[in-house]
Amino acid sequence: MAATSPVRIERHGAVAVVVIDHAPVNALSKGVRDGLAAAAATLAADPDVAAVVLSGGSGRFVAGADIREMNLPPDEPYVPDVIAAFEALDKPVVAAIDGPALGGGCELALGCDLRLASPKALVGLTETRLGIIPGAGGTQRLPRLVGIAQAIALVSEGRILKAPEALALGIVDEMVEGDLLAAAIARAPHAPKRRLSELAVPAGDAAGEEAAAAAALKGAKGLPAIAEAVRVVRASRAVAFADGMADERSTFLRLRESEAAKALRHLFFAEREAGKVPGLDGAKARLVGQAAVIGAGTMGAGIAVALADAGLPVTLVERDGEAAAAGLARVRDLYARPVKSGRLTQAEADRRLAGIGATADWQALAAADLVIEAAFEDMAVKQDIFRRLDQVAKPGAVLASNTSYLDLDAIAAATARPQDVVGLHFFAPANVMRLLEVVRGKASAPDALATALALAKRMGKQPVVAGNGDGFIGNRIYAAYRRHAEYLVEDGASPQEVDAALQAYGFAMGVFAVSDLSGLDIGYAMRKRRAATRDPAERYVELADRLVEAGRLGRKSGAGWYSYDAAGAMSADPAVAAMIANARAAKGIVPRTFTPDQIQRRLLAVMANEGAKALQEGIALRASDIDLVFVNGYGFPRLKGGPMFAADAMGLSAVLAEVEAASAAGGAGSEPAPLLVERARAGRGFADWRA
Ligand code: NAD
Repeated sequence: MAATSPVRIERHGAVAVVVIDHAPVNALSKGVRDGLAAAAATLAADPDVAAVVLSGGSGRFVAGADIREMNLPPDEPYVPDVIAAFEALDKPVVAAIDGPALGGGCELALGCDLRLASPKALVGLTETRLGIIPGAGGTQRLPRLVGIAQAIALVSEGRILKAPEALALGIVDEMVEGDLLAAAIARAPHAPKRRLSELAVPAGDAAGEEAAAAAALKGAKGLPAIAEAVRVVRASRAVAFADGMADERSTFLRLRESEAAKALRHLFFAEREAGKVPGLDGAKARLVGQAAVIGAGTMGAGIAVALADAGLPVTLVERDGEAAAAGLARVRDLYARPVKSGRLTQAEADRRLAGIGATADWQALAAADLVIEAAFEDMAVKQDIFRRLDQVAKPGAVLASNTSYLDLDAIAAATARPQDVVGLHFFAPANVMRLLEVVRGKASAPDALATALALAKRMGKQPVVAGNGDGFIGNRIYAAYRRHAEYLVEDGASPQEVDAALQAYGFAMGVFAVSDLSGLDIGYAMRKRRAATRDPAERYVELADRLVEAGRLGRKSGAGWYSYDAAGAMSADPAVAAMIANARAAKGIVPRTFTPDQIQRRLLAVMANEGAKALQEGIALRASDIDLVFVNGYGFPRLKGGPMFAADAMGLSAVLAEVEAASAAGGAGSEPAPLLVERARAGRGFADWRA
C-alpha cells in the first residue's frame, strides 16, 4: 500500500487493526476505498492474521460516502464490493465505532461480524436525507438485524441513533465505556463469524410492517427515495441476498442522478459554504452567557424561546410592566404547544421557562452579552432604542436588530459603537424557522459577526450573511416575486391559479395564501410609507390596497385574497374576483390565460433576476446563499434546490427570455439584471459566480 494511503494496517499480535485516517470525517472517497480494498486483500492472504478490527481513530468511524464524488460517475472500487470483501474474510472482523458511522460508514459496520461502540458513536442510514437510498447493502443487512418494520422507519427517516439507542435496537452489540480500541483488539480473536448477509430476515408482524411503510410514505414529502427505500427493504425477505443487493444498487444509482438528489446535494454543500465569510478569518466569537431581547411581541417572544431552547438565559425588556407580562404570556403559549403535542415534557418546558424573565427595567440590559432588538419596524423607534441601549449595554456586548427592511447602518449610527451592531433577521415563528439572516453593516466588526454565526449554530439555525440593503436577501427577492404574482393576476390569472401553480411546483403555500396568513395590513403600511419615493415608471397593482381598505386584512379578519370560514377553511371569493375584474377594466387590460407552467417559469425567473441583482450589489455573497434563504425561510421546495439552482437548471438563456417578458409587464424595477444577461450570454450559470 502506498505510504500516502489514508488506510493503514497496524498489527497487535494476531490481530490486524485497519485504521482509516482521512480527515475530517473519513468519508469513503476513492483513496479510502482503494485503501480498504487493498487491506482486505492483504488480510485475506495473511495466515498470521487471526482477526481484524476496523477503526476510524479517535472520535471517528466513517461518516459516509464522499458526497462530492456523487456528482461524478461511479468509480471502482465500489463501496458494496469493499464491504463484501471484509464480510467474506474467514476471520472475524470487528467494527470499533468511536464517532459517526453514517450512510456508507454504517453499511461498512454492518458488513462486520461484531460492532462495538463508544458512547460517542452515532449510527444511521442517512441516505434518504440526500434523496437516495443506501447503496452498499444497508437496505438488505439492516432488516436481517432489526426486522423490516424497524428498518423501514430508520431508513426512511434517515434517523441518527446515539450509542445507547443503537445498542437497544441491536445495531451495535456492545457499548464500551473505556478504551474502545483495546477492547476491540481483545475481543476480536474470540468473536464468532456472523455475516449478516447469511441471516434470515426475522419473521415480522405484517400489520407492523404495513404501518411502518404507511408512515414512511406519509412523511415522504414528494421524495421518490422514500417509496423506493420501503420497496427495497421489504424485498429483503422475498428475494435472495444477492438479488436484493442488485436491486438496491440499481435503485441507488438511478436516484443518485435524479433532479431531487442533485438539489439536495446542492443544499448540503450550500450549508457548508454559507459559513465561509470573507474577512472573518481568525475572528473569534465573543462569549455569550446572557441574552436580552427588546420588544416581546410576536418576534421577541419567539426569539426568547429560541435562545432559551439553546440554553441561554434571556430577559425580555418591554415598554411597561403590562407589556412585559403580556410578552411572558406569549412565551408561555409558545411552550404550551409542543407540550400539548407531546414534543416537549412539561418539566423541560418549565425548566426553559425558568430561564426567561421579563421586565420594563432597562437596567436589566446591563448584564447582557447580546441584545436583540425586536420592537416596531420604525426607524425612529429603533434609533431611539439603540441610543438608549448605548448608555446601558456593557462594553463589547453585541447589539443586534431584527429589522426586516430598515437600514442597519442608520440604526448603528445611533450608537457610539457601530462595530458591535449586526442584524439578526429571524423568521416567524422565530423558535421554529431555521433561517437566520445575519446582516453585516458597514462598521460591523468581524468578531461581532462571528458571534452571530456561532449563536446561529448554537440555536440550530442556518445562518446566511447578507449585506445591508432594503429587505436584505430574502424580503427583497420575495417582494419581486409577490409583485409579479400580482401582475399575473391583473393580467388574467386568478389568485387561486397562481397559488395552485406554486403548490404544484412544491411550495407549501401559494403567495396569496401566505399574504393572507401574514396579514395584508403590514404590506399596506409599508406601501403607504414608500408611496412618495416609488418610481412612477414601476407598475403598481392597487388590488392589495383595495382589499385592506375593504377590511379584508387576511386570515385574521376572515377574509383577504380568499375568504375563510369559522373553521379556517379557505375558499375563492366572488367579491375578490369582481374586484379584480374591475381593476382590469379600469386599466383597459384584456385578461389572458396563464398555464401553471407559465406561472411557475415567470415567478422563478423574476426571483432569480432579483437574486442576480443582490449578488451584483454584494447583498448576497453567492448564489447558493440565496437558495438557502428561500428554502429555509420562504417555503421554496427543497427538492428544487432554491431559485438560483432552479434557474441554472432551467438554463439562463431561457430565464433571461422570461425576465424580458416580465420586464415588459412590470416596468421600472423589473429590468434584467446585468449579471443575468452576462451569464446567459456566456452560457454560464450562477452556481460558480463569485464577486
Ligand atoms: P410586534 O408589534 O408584535 O412586537 C413589537 C413589540 O415591541 C411590542 O410588544 C411593543 O410593545 C414592543 N416595543 C415597541 N417599542 C418598544 C420600546 N421602545 N421598548 C421596548 N419594547 C418596545 O412586532 P413583531 O412582529 O414582533 O416585529 C418586531 C420586529 O421584528 C420588527 O422590526 C419587524 O419588522 C421584525 N420582524 C417581524 C417578522 C414577522 O413576521 N412579524 C419577521 C421578521 C422580522
